[in-house]
Amino acid sequence: MNRDPNATELLDLLKESREYTQYFAELGVETIALPGDHVKSELSHSLPGTLVVEPSTQWIGPLEPELPQPPVKAPIVSNPPQPTSLFGALTATQPTPLQSTESMEDVWRDIGDCTRCGLCEGRTQVVNTYGGNHKARLMFVGEAPGADEDAQGKPFVGRAGQLLTKIIEAIGMKREDVLIGNVNRCRPPGNRQPTLEEAAICRPFLFREIAAVQPDVIVVMGNTALRNLLEVREGITRVRGKFQDFRGIKVMPTFHPAYLLRDPSKKRETWEDLKKVRDYLDSLPAPPQES
Ligand code: URA
Repeated sequence: MNRDPNATELLDLLKESREYTQYFAELGVETIALPGDHVKSELSHSLPGTLVVEPSTQWIGPLEPELPQPPVKAPIVSNPPQPTSLFGALTATQPTPLQSTESMEDVWRDIGDCTRCGLCEGRTQVVNTYGGNHKARLMFVGEAPGADEDAQGKPFVGRAGQLLTKIIEAIGMKREDVLIGNVNRCRPPGNRQPTLEEAAICRPFLFREIAAVQPDVIVVMGNTALRNLLEVREGITRVRGKFQDFRGIKVMPTFHPAYLLRDPSKKRETWEDLKKVRDYLDSLPAPPQES
């Protein structure tokens, strides 16, 4: 049956809106306040579970300062603000590649004993990105520390982390060869997903680390990592396995290892995704040897 193209587009928009609503619900947003609603914008920014939609607010762009940002010390070249619609940027411009003059240590020093969001109240310690090689070619990004990570101060050391180690080894690398980090650095209470606000406060540090390291590939694991790094509408199931771009760096979305523990049948797809990463890395010229 041939469907009217307008009807098809409308159905697509409805589907995308539903996915977005589900996404915000998963992140703990209960109310979407429009300008003029009885919830005052400034106030509702501080109300947990409320997202304010204003005409000029770039509320889905991961690199845009939609919420108060921690101070950024080193110059990171950023894009000029783009006019956006509900479904993304209206003008297509080439994103400026990330540039940075700082090191991972500079970023960690700035994070310090962070109290920029409420997650600091329940955590034992800040869990920074971990890895032996600060010039790693490959970086993995998850969501937020769990109980084991909070106790040990290192990302992905619990059951999901053990599976991640196996995944890394399956592509012929060692855990020490790669960087492993999260969108949020403090354990959310009860291992809930970080809220949009918590993620927006913490992710600039991840971006600064990425700018400092400039890996060849970033593997984003699960929806939180996917949606905080990339401006995508779809969820991980649709996007996984297809290389994306983050400021000139290739990004491979795949399932989160915790999800694989719940549904081991998805390991095959993850393996397919990681093989693409391995093949891409193998296709690049060998990095220059340190003298
Ligand atoms: N899950 C994550 O997303 N990150 C961790 O560090 C551990 C589990």
